[in-house]
Amino acid sequence: MKIFPIFIPNLGCPGGCLYCDQRLNSGVAQAPTPEEIAERLKQQLPEAGLDQIAFYGGSFTALSLSLQNNYLQAVQPFLGSGQVDSLRISTRPDCIDGASAARLRRFGVKTVELGCQSFSDRVLAASGRGCRADSFPLAVTVLRDAGLSVGIQLMPGLPAGTDDEARNSLLSALMLKPDFLRIYPTVVLAGTRLAIDWQDRRYRAMSLDHAVDLCADLALICHEAEVPVIRFGLQASVDLDANGVLAGPYHPAFGQLVQSSLWLRAMRRLLAGRQTHVIQVHPHDLSTALGQRRSNLGRLHQQNPDLTIEPCNMLTRGQIQIEQTTVEMMAFAAGTGDRFE
Ligand code: SF4
Repeated sequence: MKIFPIFIPNLGCPGGCLYCDQRLNSGVAQAPTPEEIAERLKQQLPEAGLDQIAFYGGSFTALSLSLQNNYLQAVQPFLGSGQVDSLRISTRPDCIDGASAARLRRFGVKTVELGCQSFSDRVLAASGRGCRADSFPLAVTVLRDAGLSVGIQLMPGLPAGTDDEARNSLLSALMLKPDFLRIYPTVVLAGTRLAIDWQDRRYRAMSLDHAVDLCADLALICHEAEVPVIRFGLQASVDLDANGVLAGPYHPAFGQLVQSSLWLRAMRRLLAGRQTHVIQVHPHDLSTALGQRRSNLGRLHQQNPDLTIEPCNMLTRGQIQIEQTTVEMMAFAAGTGDRFE
């Protein structure tokens, strides 16, 4: 899915979320007006090759009706011209009802991302979300009934959150049968109220290794449920990279770290008790299998000092060839892969 993003940082948000600063996340200081959006799309939207225009970074359906309509009107010419197929918005689950879902649909919105973040009321309250988890199922239902595709965003590591809570939140989200998930562990952004709590030691941020490991567990649960995760971790931005993050598991290639962790788990299980010298993977999987700075290979060398991981064009993505046998990486990462002799 190729998306042209328009950021409306924190527009419509009630402002309670302790951890959030969409200006820092997006690098956009102020939401553009509908007129500015129309002008920018005229100049920058390619004739072809994109699927959606997305309004990100705010609570779209919490905006005044007239502003929502003006934004949606501003992008209609680009739907009509066929330059994009549909629209996408992100919003809060407690700001969706049947009327708003139907209106979005009428304007060509096809996908709604719901910032649920956690399904624990304790975590939602501690994070200043100002909503309860029992509002989430209704939001998903009305969006579905309006024919919209629904994504759920989750944030492990919020105040009062635990690993078990993150797993349970994911299981609750999966029970709502979302079309996709976006999972980004909490980081401490400069200037937020969470930053004060972190400085005063009332909040402890997750380490990068811990977050990668937890997200690898979550990835396996999603794989089993056959629900795609479209992104792990925050999108890298110049502002985040330049001192925007005070603490927490921020990494510009966080998703790749999660994938590498899954490859390491799978290869360890496959190699247990063997002195195999060669593992083959699809060429596009090679760098992820090797790990950042070949860290996976270094760890595997502790048991198999002569091991090499090589590319093989005969394999498909996600496959591992070992001793003339081809297996699925995710099955072995999950520990459910068939044994082979
Ligand atoms: S988390 Fe969502 S609702 Fe809360 S301030 Fe950020 S964008 Fe707004």
